[in-house]
Amino acid sequence: MQFTNLDLIDPILKSLAEEGYANPTPVQAESIPVVLAGDDLLACAQTGTGKTAAFAIPVLQHLYEQRVHGEKRRIKALVLTPTRELAVQIAESFSAYGRHTGITNTVLFGGVNQNPQTARLLRGVDIVVATPGRLLDLMGQGHLHLNDIEYFVLDEADRMLDMGFMHDVKKILAALPKKRQSLFFSATMPPEIVKLAASILHNPKKVAVTPVSSTVEIINQHILYVDKENKNSLLAYLLQEKAIRHALVFTRTKHGADKVARFLQRQNISAEAIHGNKSQNARQRALNNFKSRETRVLVATDIAARGIDVDELEYVINVDLPNVPETYVHRIGRTGRAGAAGTAYSFCNAEEKPLLRDIEKLIAKSVPVLDGHPYPMTGQETASGAATPGGRGNTGHPAPKPQVKSGSWQRGRGQGKARRP
Ligand code: AMP
Repeated sequence: MQFTNLDLIDPILKSLAEEGYANPTPVQAESIPVVLAGDDLLACAQTGTGKTAAFAIPVLQHLYEQRVHGEKRRIKALVLTPTRELAVQIAESFSAYGRHTGITNTVLFGGVNQNPQTARLLRGVDIVVATPGRLLDLMGQGHLHLNDIEYFVLDEADRMLDMGFMHDVKKILAALPKKRQSLFFSATMPPEIVKLAASILHNPKKVAVTPVSSTVEIINQHILYVDKENKNSLLAYLLQEKAIRHALVFTRTKHGADKVARFLQRQNISAEAIHGNKSQNARQRALNNFKSRETRVLVATDIAARGIDVDELEYVINVDLPNVPETYVHRIGRTGRAGAAGTAYSFCNAEEKPLLRDIEKLIAKSVPVLDGHPYPMTGQETASGAATPGGRGNTGHPAPKPQVKSGSWQRGRGQGKARRP
């Protein structure tokens, strides 16, 4: 499948070629025809699947085809998204894909002076990307109205719910014209979200692309609480278990990746680091060595790991937890490909506990804790205090044997549903 098979107009095809996108991602290939045909869309897709372009491209195309030259621009499309970062990214996507269409957009979010935003609205704009609070503020002050909206996108609906925006979203919905095309995106579909979708959409076409939960469910996940200074030792310990012959290890920083690789080399474990400071050639070499299993461990940063696709990768080890919860899903999704069993171990020190909570919220369950390893976290409540309580324990993973200290690797705890705020 190529973008050229999707009935897209030339100005959009041109910008996609400039972006270097040859083929649509699955969510794009499925959603774009639905939206171009004028149907409402219910899409279950997480960040990283290319969902932004899945709505931005067909909305741009509709607006381009309708545009009457010389007419003052009215806000015809509204995208609601929960965070400022997402809002900015989405607006940038509209600008990039719409570069040759003449369709304009602006972004509205709180926490900054509103004057530049209202000045921009006064000049007239086709698309508004907004977070709910600021949009309502500006509507309340009469700086914009939504009477001309023909395309409405609700992005990351489940996150809106988690962040407590449901009331604001409903107020905005009430201000939208009844006759419109609505596109609804959510990474997960808990019952409240299904209900909200039903209240917004009319006979929607449904698209589901590897929802987070199904990607994550086939992977055996474990959290290992450990002090920061013992992370390397714990890693070496894990790798010494026969079961782990080959692993992709993630760190948050380039410096961290180098340090981990050097540490492993000193332990006579063959390891290489791959990150943005290395030349393309060095990266490719490291990747080839890993793929051919010459190197046992590849230590990568998230950016460098983009595009790494290793067949039959059984183990992912997160030496650091990522700051962005979706990244956790991307990382562990490197294993367990094509239904194969995969295992992900994630180290968590005291400072990283909030990151773990965010991850558990995103995947809507708590990650089982493996304790009984030789480097337990000191000084605070143990592992048990940090994870959400209760639930299923057995992860189906063959537990490695401890070599030092007493106690055994306990089966994971708490696989129940994570708390919602
Ligand atoms: P999103 O899920 O919308 O956050 O997109 C994830 C990333 O994929 C973004 O960095 C996009 O620029 C990129 N992307 C989106 N569509 C494509 C495509 N068809 N080909 C390559 N990269 C893409």
